[in-house]
Amino acid sequence: MDAAEFRCRGKEMVDYIADYLEKIEEQSVYPDVEPGYLHHLIPTEAPLEPEGFGEIMQDVEKVIMPGITHWHSPRFFAYFPTGSSYPALLADMLCSGIGCIGFSWAASPACTELETVMLDWLGKMLQLPECFLAGTHGRGGGVIQSTASEATLVSLLAARCKAVRWVQAEDATRSEADILSKLVAYTSEQAHSSVERAALIGAVLMRKVPTDDNYAVREETLKKMVEEDKAAGLIPFYFCATLGTTPSCAFDCIPELGPLCNRENIWMHIDAAYAGSAFICPEFRPLLNGVEYADSFNFNPHKWLLINFDCSAMWVKERADIIGAFKMEPLYLKHENQESGKITSFLLQHWQIPLGRRFRSLKMWFVFRMYGIKGMQAHIRKQVGLAKEFESLVRADKRFEICAEVVLGLVCFRLKGSNELNQNLLKKITKSREIHLVPCQLSGLFVLRFAICARKTESRHIQQAWRHITQLAFELLQEQPH
Ligand code: PLP
Repeated sequence: MDAAEFRCRGKEMVDYIADYLEKIEEQSVYPDVEPGYLHHLIPTEAPLEPEGFGEIMQDVEKVIMPGITHWHSPRFFAYFPTGSSYPALLADMLCSGIGCIGFSWAASPACTELETVMLDWLGKMLQLPECFLAGTHGRGGGVIQSTASEATLVSLLAARCKAVRWVQAEDATRSEADILSKLVAYTSEQAHSSVERAALIGAVLMRKVPTDDNYAVREETLKKMVEEDKAAGLIPFYFCATLGTTPSCAFDCIPELGPLCNRENIWMHIDAAYAGSAFICPEFRPLLNGVEYADSFNFNPHKWLLINFDCSAMWVKERADIIGAFKMEPLYLKHENQESGKITSFLLQHWQIPLGRRFRSLKMWFVFRMYGIKGMQAHIRKQVGLAKEFESLVRADKRFEICAEVVLGLVCFRLKGSNELNQNLLKKITKSREIHLVPCQLSGLFVLRFAICARKTESRHIQQAWRHITQLAFELLQEQPH
């Protein structure tokens, strides 16, 4: 493909994507294919001779589209949202076009510098305490990670490194191996599985903290566990709090947990993967109160802030903690501005696990400028309003119950009755392919999660979804033995 063909096909591709997104509602939201379907539709070897773009696009229709779950359909209510907007798509295209790998300032100064500035812009939108911002003189700062899972892992590894240092500072005779074997991390029993996985990869013990009736971790519970563990000779060093848990969007009580962590020398990381975007609205910002006690904070603009995957924003109070844990500097990565005082906040390659980094801050820059803070706030508010609308519909029907407080865009609900009944209802919903939901477990109950996901979801989709759910529930209840 030469530049002339790229110009032409590129325009066709933009049309194809716009048509796909504008007509997405016409598709079944969940694909009707069996596992392995794709293997039967494509050759087992790559082609020897070049093929044409047109042929490939025909196969996109034939092979790919039938196997797509349409996350941006306004009838998609599963998981949590994944962001999408036209400015972000265009910025992503530019990012691929420039195609730099911004691992150091010299490897592409704009890539590193824009990222630092965008994380400060976003940090200010969230009213993060000054200490998390890079500014010009700050000791903190932000970085884009690929995912919340990665941010959790990075924070855990940095905390592990810091813990070894402070224990050895108190007792120089203790070996690193001895200290590592005694470290203990904590997280909510409601935390995302990626938190437990971070401990697995970091090779440290992680204990799950029971939650209260609102599925939130409270200070008393964590304090008791920390005291027990210290008495047993263990070294508590890390707590991952969640703001907006995956099952029910619950909020750990960070204003009371933070001081405990600070007193006990425990690194507090906050995982607000989904809920974090809402904190740009003043009315939801109180949910972030207590962040001042945290050592690191993360959320995914690629979930709810109109930015396409991947773009996970992470801030640390002391960037030296994180750089200290990950710094590697072979000669080929050094550059002449390395020692410049201005550049300390720009060593982003030391803030993450991979070396390579895409120019993801372009997506933020385009979206922040083309929506403005007001436009993004309107998006969040609209989606919370739609969740409230769905909640009212559920509450008005005596056969159903709401299972957790609806704070943002997630509604947890179920048919009053057995878990089996609700499993069967979900099976019917999934099989219908009209709407798509996933379940969770709360207090031993099988619960349906209804998350407002797509940018184009409107009130009529909520009403239609509810009519569909109640129709299937009616059929199911008719089938039940009386
Ligand atoms: N943490 C929470 C609270 C989540 O809800 C999720 C995913 O939904 C994750 C972490 C994992 O996010 P990622 O896919 O960015 O690793």
